[in-house]
Amino acid sequence: MRLVFFLLFPLAAFAQSNHSHLRGRVMKFPAIPGYLTLTSDLHMHSVFSDGSVWPDIRVQEALMDGLDMISLTEHLEYQPHKDDIPHPDRNRAHQLALEEAKDHDLMIFRGSEITRKMPPGHCNAIFIQDANKLLINDSLEVFKEASRQGAFVFWNHPNWISLSHRPDGVATLTPFHQRLISEKLLHGIEVVNELTYSDEALQIALDNNLTIMGTSDIHGLVDWQFGLNKGGHRPLTMVFAKEKSEASVKEALFARRTVVFFNDMLIGRTEQLKPLVAQCIKADSARYIGKTQVLKLWLRNDSPCPMTLKNQSAFRFHNAGEVIRINAFETLELEVKTLNRLAGLSLDFEVLNAVYAPGKHPFCKWQVTPLP
Ligand code: ZN
Repeated sequence: MRLVFFLLFPLAAFAQSNHSHLRGRVMKFPAIPGYLTLTSDLHMHSVFSDGSVWPDIRVQEALMDGLDMISLTEHLEYQPHKDDIPHPDRNRAHQLALEEAKDHDLMIFRGSEITRKMPPGHCNAIFIQDANKLLINDSLEVFKEASRQGAFVFWNHPNWISLSHRPDGVATLTPFHQRLISEKLLHGIEVVNELTYSDEALQIALDNNLTIMGTSDIHGLVDWQFGLNKGGHRPLTMVFAKEKSEASVKEALFARRTVVFFNDMLIGRTEQLKPLVAQCIKADSARYIGKTQVLKLWLRNDSPCPMTLKNQSAFRFHNAGEVIRINAFETLELEVKTLNRLAGLSLDFEVLNAVYAPGKHPFCKWQVTPLP
């Protein structure tokens, strides 16, 4: 999806202008009850399709970002560099990435991008056994072969504004996609691709029980594409897995336990989004100021995502308005006018940068017990 980059970059640069510069590069999120929070980017390219770098660079970028897992998803059918880099074996990019990562704790899943006209457009098949066996002309048969290999398959950039895809930018399910879903050949959908987000794709995911995915679809360099020098970050998909293994990640993806991190937004189902937010923000050291009825406390953000919270509590704040922002890995001092000196209270917020359905933000509560 590299065509849109040039069109969207100025907008994206504007959207990214208000970032914390303290976040650092590594993107680690806290675990949630019962699951590890693993970070993935399962859509990327190298010179083995239409990317601009050797596969080892993809591994090095992932290590710098602290990702737990990646997949090099070269276009099976689109090979613009093949005169310069002939490679009859479509598993080669994966092998080179594995060699680069051999001394590191980075999981690399074998994947391919099935690259067709609409419908079905482009889809990624992850956890395949042999990419060469996916070189099949028939658009339905290739999905059946991916399924035989045990693949997790998701629809890429359903909002792509290419004239041959969706010039209106509105992700829309076609009868072919409906057939793939009903035959259990399509399991997820990119709600986030590269520099774009799609409310419509999120609704399609919710309506059709598809896994919510977000990926970089990187072709050039992550640093340049996502403005890391300006505090930007690549999109990633958090996967809530029982353990750090390929089998466990696969189980979690099929079970739809994901949250996407994109441009300081968190996008996912309530079941994962609320526990994640609850682990990202902690209320600390609440104590009344002198003999007053104003309670001072600290809200700590243990995540790389700045959090924007709208007050929905019974109380007003003494040092802030109704909307507060806690930067990544920072602490915010908050003074709450509780009117009486309370032994315990609930702070209720609408988490404005988290989305569980188009235009819907979760409400979360933090229990606070003032120190004597
Ligand atoms: Zn791609």
